[in-house]
Amino acid sequence: MNFAFVCGWCGAPCVMWGEPVASWWTDRYELPDDFECWSCGGISTTPPPPWTPADD
Ligand SMILES: [Zn+2]
Repeated sequence: MNFAFVCGWCGAPCVMWGEPVASWWTDRYELPDDFECWSCGGISTTPPPPWTPADD
């Protein structure tokens, strides 16, 4: 599932892929600790959940 984040440097919306984690009691996804902005190239820390699902 894709999640939407906002770059901490330039404010551009970034979309990151979250790998589903097998679990029977809740929907969980694994995301990297940080992500690189497609717009400015800056590295931003992934905020703590809950995350915003991105519209595909
Ligand atoms: Zn940026």
